[in-house]
Amino acid sequence: MIHILTADVYNKIAAGEVVDRPYSVVKELVENALDAGATEITVEIEAGGKKLVRVTDNGCGIARGELQKAYLPHATSKLSRAEDLFGVRTLGFRGEALASIASVSRMRIVSKTADAEAYSLASEGGALGEVEPAAGGNGTQVSVEDLFFNTPARLKFLKSDGQEEGDVTNMIARILLSRPEVAFTYLVNGKVRYRSFGDGLPAAMAAVYGAGILGNCYAIDAEKHGVRVSGFIGDRNFSKPNRTYQSLFVNGRYVVNQTVGAAVSNAYASYLMKRQYPFYVLFLELPPEIVDVNVHPNKADVRFADNQVIYGTVYSVVSSVLDGNSRALEYLAKDERAEEAPAPKEEMSFEEAKKELHFDIPPVVGKVSVPRRFTDEEKEPLVLRVNAPAPMPAPQEDAFEENRRFLLEQERARSQQRVDPASLEYKGELFRTYLIYERGEEAYLVDQHAAHERILYDRLRAACDARSVVSQPMLLPYVLDLNAQEYAFLSEKLPLLRELGFEAEEFGGRSVKISALPADLVGMDMEAFFSEVLASMESLRAVRLADILKDKFASAACKAAVKGGERLTEEEVRELLRRMDGDMGLKCPHGRPVAVRVKRSELEKLFKRIV
Ligand code: ADP
Ligand code: MG
Repeated sequence: MIHILTADVYNKIAAGEVVDRPYSVVKELVENALDAGATEITVEIEAGGKKLVRVTDNGCGIARGELQKAYLPHATSKLSRAEDLFGVRTLGFRGEALASIASVSRMRIVSKTADAEAYSLASEGGALGEVEPAAGGNGTQVSVEDLFFNTPARLKFLKSDGQEEGDVTNMIARILLSRPEVAFTYLVNGKVRYRSFGDGLPAAMAAVYGAGILGNCYAIDAEKHGVRVSGFIGDRNFSKPNRTYQSLFVNGRYVVNQTVGAAVSNAYASYLMKRQYPFYVLFLELPPEIVDVNVHPNKADVRFADNQVIYGTVYSVVSSVLDGNSRALEYLAKDERAEEAPAPKEEMSFEEAKKELHFDIPPVVGKVSVPRRFTDEEKEPLVLRVNAPAPMPAPQEDAFEENRRFLLEQERARSQQRVDPASLEYKGELFRTYLIYERGEEAYLVDQHAAHERILYDRLRAACDARSVVSQPMLLPYVLDLNAQEYAFLSEKLPLLRELGFEAEEFGGRSVKISALPADLVGMDMEAFFSEVLASMESLRAVRLADILKDKFASAACKAAVKGGERLTEEEVRELLRRMDGDMGLKCPHGRPVAVRVKRSELEKLFKRIV
């Protein structure tokens, strides 16, 4: 016999999908508060959320006539047509949460819209009471008591109070980070655990991780292929023992996503040891049409229209910043890019910051005004820039304007670090390592090895992309004897090595023979190169993108090609500088700076000529 389930039974079943633990209750309620436009949210839990979860917001409120509807399954004010699903911008949209939670708890909603009095409506296991006048300020308070009191089986499956509390706390931390413009207060058993004031991401980071965290992170803000990647990533020496220090937000929503997770891990692969995990708080913003949030009722993952683009974008941004290659400058957030940027004003609001950025832009002149051409690789650029983490897209006209401003700003930061090579006067070298240049009131010290490595790297990568690497046969072939694992790895990558200019072939048993190498790298240390490549085998195995492999191979090759303690001829010195093209912001492929600037005034201070 086929039964039509009563709403009561249906909701209890559905509740298992949406709310299985106190933390999912908290999550749904806080997301509702955010969707309601709240700027202040208080979350209270008792006994790990089993006894009480209460969320209070100052959002739009629920009108008296809508209070009952809020408890109905599939009642939502956020979606009315199926097509809307493709442009979801609010956090909730299924209209399931309140009905599900109400069916397994004692719930009370007290709410007040700006133009009416406050009303409340309570429910016990889904059975609604009466709408009654109540006291309260603008906004909504939802209290959930005795979760699962009427489903003992489910109650049994909850973890201890302490563990449930821990899970709620982790989640609150992530919400707090994802919405730095919202002021949060989080209380556990009556004591304040987190408090933020809605004054920006750095402050939110400090609220969760302590003020010291900022010193260990790079602030990044990059845009590629229509995807904006921003937030904080731990520096090369900052690692964590597990993944709980990793937060990813896609269009403002916290998710765990394999593609992005792998991209970040692989970018850190050469810096972190086994069982060390990178720290990150990353925001991805992309047009909602190319991301599907409707993967699972808990909405903890997303699907991207094109995983390759997402992987490539995140990988290249994070690894550029860590490796310090030339693009890193573009990817660091404004404050980190400009060397002498004014200290950020403490209490600058998001709006003020935007204005300030606007007035900062120099008059549009010469080269800077040329619109950026998008490369083939970038296909159809999506210039829409969404202001994180406000949920609404910026209007289209503004998007173009803002994008242009962003590019100008980038250009300007770069030009600050670039000097005219002709204006540099060579003054000699120090320790057979540092070349000294004078220019007006400042001196530059250039690490010749880092610079050389960097130049080789750029050249090799460019030749590789153009498929024009010139190989040079070796007098004696180099034969590598490998173990089974190494052999399996390397033999699969032979085509890539060939693209880089190595002539490499299987040589019987588990050996690989190298009989030619890129002309630029003649004299390189083969052993050092292959041991570096094989050392990163574990982390490279998971990577399928040939491009990323090439990057790693190229940087290992260049490192192996540059010899230390060598005196350069004057001609070589000039050539080096010419190749650097005056770019004093360069980093070597391994992240060390190529050039350091010393101001005359700094020297004079050392000599106490000035104080
Ligand atoms: P959904 O969020 O998916 O729409 P919910 O069951 O979570 O579904 O909420 C149902 C409806 O109740 C929402 O669409 C919204 O109209 C209203 N609502 C819930 N919480 C709040 C809140 N804190 N402030 C204002 N309206 C709310
Ligand atoms: Mg909801």
